Amino acid sequence: MTALWVRGVRVVDPFAGTDTVTDVYVDRDGCFAAAPARAACEETVDGRGLWLVPRVVDLHVHFREPGQEHKEDIGSGSRAAAAGGVSVVGLMPNTAPVIDEGPKMARVLDRVTQVGLVAAWGIGAVSVGSRGQEAADWDGMRQAGARAFSDDGHPVASSRMMAAVLAFSAHHGTPVIQHLEDPELAQGGVAHDGVVANRLGLSGMPASAESVLAWRDVGLLRAYGGRLHFAHCSVPDTLAALAWARAQGAQATGEAAPHHLLLTDAALTEWHPTGMAKVNPPLRPAAMRDALRQAVERGVVTVVASDHAPHAPDEKARAFDAAPFGISGIETLLGVLLTVFHHERRLTPLALMRLVTCGPHEVVGESYLGVVPGSRADFTLIDPGASWRVDPTRFHSRGTNTPLAGQVLYGRVVATVHRGRFTFREGQVVS
Ligand SMILES: [Zn+2]
Repeated sequence: MTALWVRGVRVVDPFAGTDTVTDVYVDRDGCFAAAPARAACEETVDGRGLWLVPRVVDLHVHFREPGQEHKEDIGSGSRAAAAGGVSVVGLMPNTAPVIDEGPKMARVLDRVTQVGLVAAWGIGAVSVGSRGQEAADWDGMRQAGARAFSDDGHPVASSRMMAAVLAFSAHHGTPVIQHLEDPELAQGGVAHDGVVANRLGLSGMPASAESVLAWRDVGLLRAYGGRLHFAHCSVPDTLAALAWARAQGAQATGEAAPHHLLLTDAALTEWHPTGMAKVNPPLRPAAMRDALRQAVERGVVTVVASDHAPHAPDEKARAFDAAPFGISGIETLLGVLLTVFHHERRLTPLALMRLVTCGPHEVVGESYLGVVPGSRADFTLIDPGASWRVDPTRFHSRGTNTPLAGQVLYGRVVATVHRGRFTFREGQVVS
């Protein structure tokens, strides 16, 4: 007897490269199973009209624990992940304290396992305290389960530090995730340096603050080897650096955030004078947003990740200059992805789901077989045509900070299954 039978579902499986309507079975050990000899199972789900997508990853999230639990903790973040249809999260280390040594990494990963709603790929800091001065305990963190290193929230500004962590990456295979921001060029900037910032009297952050670091880093990647991943790419010259590095055969990948794919800096005017649409890198003009969409469609950018950055309501309600950067995004990740690339732009389901499945797996070098017997049953059921209005008061995240509030998205998460067990269904997280 199998535990779960999903009937007549459209299996969009980027790992296998297949897109077919079929039945899917899950055994009592939480793995996909072959069709049983007799059609007996504990639970049957009608999958008609739905997509079943295996192992959805959000490679870039901030769960704020330890230290800033008033914004989010691992429990609320995990519930938000389940509600967002996410099976694996890439946990950024900029907590308080910063995750910069093995025992801290082990504690955070244990805590995610205890909650049991989602799996985590730990991301350790590049430098102690992410202060950019001395190297963090890369080997200790790697042995404790770290899958990548990043000082996200801050760039690795020192060329020496970047060279050293790339050399470590070349030896051990752990990728380096870079938050691209030249500290001198970006200094004091709160919005994209352009017409909108000028009109609102906001200090600008030039596009070159992102791209000059991208070009430095691909140069270092060529010299030192290793694997380099650019977080939240947002300007055309960053995309050019990425394409160039790949054309040279270097192991460079890039990600785009949903808000950069959907919105433009016009959202700043809409939410003025609050900092609700304040994010780093900043929202860009339409031409840059469109270039980013094309980079996704051409395969230059291979990952879409939320950069889920929850904050307390009073923090984001402050005047623009004083508000923190970031958007609570894990529960709108798939909705934005389907709205932009399925509803508006007609990317194939396989190509668009690659961005949150194979793409992030390739970044960390993780293999997964998809929907085949014996493979762990992590999957999401999505109603691709359903529309819904974003209502942050119904978020499972503690962070309700999103400039998408009130916006209609297409593509709704119907259920999430983690290790063969429902973690989200009928609008409820199942603990
Ligand atoms: Zn960042």
